[in-house]
Amino acid sequence: MTDNKRSLLVLGSTGSVGTQALDVAKKEGHKVLGVSANRDVRQIEEQVRFFGCPACAMADESAAAELKIKLADTGAKVYSGADGINEMILESDADVALNSIIGEAGLLPTISALQSGKRLALANKESLVVAGEIVMGLAKEKGVEILPVDSEHCAIYQCLSAGRREDVKKLILTASGGPFYGKKREELSAISPADALAHPTWSMGAKITIDSATLMNKGFEVIEAAHLFGVSADKIDVVVQRESIIHSMVEYIDNSIIAQLSVPDMRLCVQYALSAPERREAVIDELDFTKLSQISFGKPDMDTFVLLRLALDTLDRGGAMPAVLNAANEVAVSAFLSEKIGFTDIFDCVSETVSSLSARESEHNLEGILASDREAREKALNIVNAMNRK
Ligand code: MG
Repeated sequence: MTDNKRSLLVLGSTGSVGTQALDVAKKEGHKVLGVSANRDVRQIEEQVRFFGCPACAMADESAAAELKIKLADTGAKVYSGADGINEMILESDADVALNSIIGEAGLLPTISALQSGKRLALANKESLVVAGEIVMGLAKEKGVEILPVDSEHCAIYQCLSAGRREDVKKLILTASGGPFYGKKREELSAISPADALAHPTWSMGAKITIDSATLMNKGFEVIEAAHLFGVSADKIDVVVQRESIIHSMVEYIDNSIIAQLSVPDMRLCVQYALSAPERREAVIDELDFTKLSQISFGKPDMDTFVLLRLALDTLDRGGAMPAVLNAANEVAVSAFLSEKIGFTDIFDCVSETVSSLSARESEHNLEGILASDREAREKALNIVNAMNRK
């Protein structure tokens, strides 16, 4: 990185983190050598033209065919389908792959990025939830760094530079608590997708906004942190910090706690993932303490928001259990967003799927994990359909 400029692939470029990543690329003058999206032809065409990308990929094959025609005058290579995304990653000379694909679909692109020796700026936490041991093992084998593009993990990464790894007592993940903090189960059952999408502090896509409202997102983040930083579940605490100003903390053996603070803006995480350990001129606003009325703390309610506890449990049990948890959650959240099931049905559908597939804790290889993922989706879908008929 001699001139501070990177060459990037932005995977999931039309989503919330993807567009913010491209905003950072534009502000800092990084080259964008490729973008990928699911099926938003209009937006990706604009991105390819703006950045002059030599390559792009669409997961949806008919969208890829349409994009190919639209981009015929540019000479950009258009890759098609899930395999096409991996092919683009493996063939690209980019030095960083920023993966902001949503859900388990981001796992194989993560693996391709590591295999091709690129620095991985990882916003797709599901890669680590589903196959944390495999992903971290591959990064180590290839000597590639994974930089988290998740505010909590970006914070912890920064806080860890204040001391030696062996002197870390615990990681303290902060949680906004979501829009339903303080509510009990009976108050949650009538919540609509529109209520749940009204998240107070971060601007995010629909899937992660629902995951934040159920605290599933925080559960995933504990699993993500455990793999990323090599710590066990008992060394990770979750603290509610309502205003999302403290993004996470590290406590050392002398009980000194190092915190990272800023306005809630993902572009800082993107920027840091590209420049770390160096820092660059700000792309986000300054935090004005005089305008902060308070910074308040609380305890997560794991009796109501049961998915957080379930995540800790699947992390302990290991194998493909976190993958089962993730797959069931993807199915349940999508059913909730299309109004097939209610908000608390997400809790029940995921819990039931996880308990019915408990034998999957002995699956450790990628094949077994992917098979468990498929089986969990099937099971969760059956549960959703049964709920829907009631
Ligand atoms: Mg986060």
